[in-house]
Amino acid sequence: MGNTVYFVVPCYNEEEVLPETSKRLLEKMKSLIDAGKVSPESKVCFVDDGSKDRTWEMVEELHANYPVFTGVKLSRNRGHQNALLGGMMTVKDDCDAVVSLDADLQDDPNAIDEMIDDWLNGSDIVYGVRSARKTDTFFKRFTAESFYRIMDLMGAQIVFNHADYRLMSSRALDALAEYKEVNLFLRGMIPTLGFKTSTVKYERNERFAGESKYPLKKMLALAWNGITSFSTRPLEMIVTLGVILIAAAVVLLLVCAGRAIWGTAPHATEVFSYSLWLLGGIQLLALGVVGEYIGKIYSEVKGRPRYIIETYLK
Ligand code: UDP
Ligand code: MG
Repeated sequence: MGNTVYFVVPCYNEEEVLPETSKRLLEKMKSLIDAGKVSPESKVCFVDDGSKDRTWEMVEELHANYPVFTGVKLSRNRGHQNALLGGMMTVKDDCDAVVSLDADLQDDPNAIDEMIDDWLNGSDIVYGVRSARKTDTFFKRFTAESFYRIMDLMGAQIVFNHADYRLMSSRALDALAEYKEVNLFLRGMIPTLGFKTSTVKYERNERFAGESKYPLKKMLALAWNGITSFSTRPLEMIVTLGVILIAAAVVLLLVCAGRAIWGTAPHATEVFSYSLWLLGGIQLLALGVVGEYIGKIYSEVKGRPRYIIETYLK
């Protein structure tokens, strides 16, 4: 195994930040190369996600002036997750590990040193986990933290306060390449890969220029995608609710029957409403059962690998 590392940086309309970002990443790369931690063939790869501004021209200029910069251009805007995956898949055979980070330097590049140390010590995936959210507005912090909690409740396995700042070895990337799904939620997919993993803490900075390319609408879409792509817990909840309703209705109806035989007869509306509960419960249960099959079809369609071999001693 060599130690060629590529930084993959998705960019969407990032002309305002690119000059500074490229400078900082160049410095970082130089210091890593000088320290002998990564090979001199290591590169910074900007992925242009169909930007409408000068982003791609700037990447071309950088590439022409410094061999350390490379670029990948998507034919149109496909969103952060697709841009990131596209970039990682394009470079994975040219390097031994990839570090993915945002173009706005909110992910502190100084955490890369520690990520590389962890990787050299045997971790295949190193998650960057933000230690504080001091620089976020209350709204962003609240929505973001609720997102992690709900995801957890809904049964998707994600790393708390980890966005898409991480290092992945080429072996982990090869495994990820086996995931053929089109609804991407990398934060949920990558923990299912397995392998030795570790986390590195970092402070998340403010976006130093330009505005967020993740408005609330895109954030909600990502969260919804995360829940619906990762878990069948909502379906299980329907089944549970159906069972509870049926059980309650049966008990109450039996009580009504008992009262009719041995005591004062219950009012017709009472019996009627419990019958409605029973019917509602049966319908929910039936829906849930259908849902379970749909859930199974969904996971079949995704065609994820059934296993990933980490080592084969021959
Ligand atoms: N991004 C992208 N395609 C998009 C939206 C965003 O490649 O459609 C990139 C963007 O250029 C940045 C990263 O994804 O490098 C994170 O976006 P941003 O910083 O705007 O999100 P926030 O930090 O506000 O959540
Ligand atoms: Mg940002």
